Amino acid sequence: MRAVHLRGPVVLDDDRVAPEAWLLGDRITFHRPSSVDATLDGWVLPGLVDVHCHVGLGAQGEVDRSTAEQQALADRDSGVLLIRDAGSPADTRWVDDREDLPRLIRAGRHLARPKRYLRHYGRELAEVAELPAAVVQEAVRGDGWVKLVADWIDRDLGPDGDLRPLWPDDVLAQAVAAAHAHGARVTAHTFATEALDGLLDAGVDCLEHATGADPRQIDRIAAAGVPVTVTLLQVAQFAAIADQAVKYPVYAERMRRMHTRRYQHVRDLHDAGIPLLLGTDAGGTIAHGRIADEAAELLAAGIPDADVVAAASWRTRRWLGAPVLGEGDPADLVVYDSDPRVDARVLATPRAVVLRGNRVR
Ligand SMILES: [Zn+2]
Repeated sequence: MRAVHLRGPVVLDDDRVAPEAWLLGDRITFHRPSSVDATLDGWVLPGLVDVHCHVGLGAQGEVDRSTAEQQALADRDSGVLLIRDAGSPADTRWVDDREDLPRLIRAGRHLARPKRYLRHYGRELAEVAELPAAVVQEAVRGDGWVKLVADWIDRDLGPDGDLRPLWPDDVLAQAVAAAHAHGARVTAHTFATEALDGLLDAGVDCLEHATGADPRQIDRIAAAGVPVTVTLLQVAQFAAIADQAVKYPVYAERMRRMHTRRYQHVRDLHDAGIPLLLGTDAGGTIAHGRIADEAAELLAAGIPDADVVAAASWRTRRWLGAPVLGEGDPADLVVYDSDPRVDARVLATPRAVVLRGNRVR
């Protein structure tokens, strides 16, 4: 079996760094093999994670298989070897059969209501009461996650149109309980302040964006230990979204306010002790392969390099239940020229990407 000496250092955890390791076939080992075929120098991290990434989704909804393949390859080449998708209209189960593509944890289809999310993205339920049963169906189709759209602009309000929750609180609670009963966790798209208490009351497991969280809700999220995927690349688009919403001045003003405050907001979440997650939200209007750009946005917000890198790698892998780089674990890793915990900008230039023991970049 082919053996590669990783001359290290190898970052294993927040405070554990091994001086070296070996790639033995598709596995990692810390026991020196009898012979070594090659060496790889540099700082080694467990493969990066993008927790909000839509493989199979484009600006107009579902994309064909070859486009989805290009998306997954772009993610992989950026060092992302594990993706939690955050809803996809496409059946992407074929990705599991491809040794050269990142590992994918699916959330099934976004659950939304007619006219209350981006067209052609989600599964639109005619009646709110259908949500718990739909959650069960998506839980069965997915890989342990379900994605809800918790709030969106309500254009039926005319010029007063603004972000409003999609689901009554009692239905949300039933839906989250139904997911949990079927072994799935629930994450929710939320921009609005108004949707957050209902989600937290329901016991949601993760929040996407959470741009509307007020100080009291930030304390609630922290107390519940619910991570937030801050999607700063997506929130950077809020000003442009506001510019297009000329018919909805209330909504536009709110989106602008959240855009202006976005870095302070993310710092507030971090300072409250909320685990922040990295998600590019690639697949709608944002290109795949931009995990380093999302990391750079968190750095711009003032999040320490070490926390950004931990969130992009081992910390989030553990939270998802994925292997890190333990003895005998799959050799999914990324190699950098210098210590990313000291300067996370190095995430933009991986020296090598190794997936299932194969060097793919
Ligand atoms: Zn998304």
